[in-house]
Amino acid sequence: MNRFDVNRLVRKNVSGLHPYTSARDDFSGEASVWLDANESPYPSGYNRYPDPWQRELKKVVSAVKGVPEEKLFIGNGSDEVLDLLFRAFCEPRLDNVVTIRPGYGMYQVLADVNDVQCRTADLNPDFSLDPEKVLSLTDDHTRLILLCSPNNPTGNALGPEAIEIILKNTGALVVVDEAYSDFSDKPGWLGKLSLFPNLVVVQTLSKAWGMAALRLGLGFAGEEIIRILNRIKPPYNVNLLSQQEAIKQLKQVQKTKEQIVLILQEKEEMRQALETMPGVKKVFPSDANFLLVEMKNATAVYEKLLREGIVVRNRSGILHCASCLRITIGTPEENERLLSELKNVLQQLQAWTPETTLIE
Ligand SMILES: *Cc1c(COP(=O)(O)O)cnc(C)c1O
Repeated sequence: MNRFDVNRLVRKNVSGLHPYTSARDDFSGEASVWLDANESPYPSGYNRYPDPWQRELKKVVSAVKGVPEEKLFIGNGSDEVLDLLFRAFCEPRLDNVVTIRPGYGMYQVLADVNDVQCRTADLNPDFSLDPEKVLSLTDDHTRLILLCSPNNPTGNALGPEAIEIILKNTGALVVVDEAYSDFSDKPGWLGKLSLFPNLVVVQTLSKAWGMAALRLGLGFAGEEIIRILNRIKPPYNVNLLSQQEAIKQLKQVQKTKEQIVLILQEKEEMRQALETMPGVKKVFPSDANFLLVEMKNATAVYEKLLREGIVVRNRSGILHCASCLRITIGTPEENERLLSELKNVLQQLQAWTPETTLIE
């Protein structure tokens, strides 16, 4: 087992730099005259800069998630949290990251933007994770291992034993992106933070919590890692209105839980309906709020659905996902619409293109 040392991983320029200190870092007490930040003095509800450390929001998130505030980072969407991990730990053109395929496309984009090599380990055809394959792609310059569980676009949670093998056998940070964990009945990784110093858990308020437009991503890790992210983040990365609104929304735990239950019920109904539909070949197991569905001629189905005003995600070009659509679970009415249009479309395709009945 490699000994974990975060100081070995952090980029030299990051450990050496002097972070920007905002006016509100220098003074954050009570005052009646604020002439320190060149703001407009005229009240609009948002004429003052927001809290750079999102203290009030962090208290609420910390209580909801059961993780102390010192182990929490809040970003402008998870995309910002992930980008900051690249910028803090990956030396451009020298270091590398390892991720899985099929997986979330944003990791490759972030690697490209940061000029960092991105190596991909193929999942097994049943979308399970082979830890040895991931570890075999790592070397002394691997800084991040990016795993998404439940995985997008495949929908399955990755095996905890496999992730644990990776955590125990690398000196790199292992980032588990849990954007969909709110929909899964399998335990996530927040409870394991103190066991694995190289574990970083990323979550989002964009999915189950219904705040995609507010752009709020959560990073959970050991205090040292959080401190490093805090050194390089833009000072006011989470705006005031997002902080205020999230505090309100996070108090609606019951409503969110009920919505999750409804989405999961709808998911099972949609699975059953899809499985009996001629033209649907396979509905993959899902721990998320979407289904990956293999069907005859997915691209033609996708285009016909579009013409009816129904947008799903065509994942046909991706490894192990040939002729697959990824369908998000919507409201009962939306799901009904999707199913009835899909039935029509598959029937049309069946009737009009004789070769689809010959080529299985
Ligand atoms: C949707 C999603 C996110 C969320 O990104 P935000 O920037 O927080 O909206 C993160 N990771 C994965 C895998 C996702 O599918």
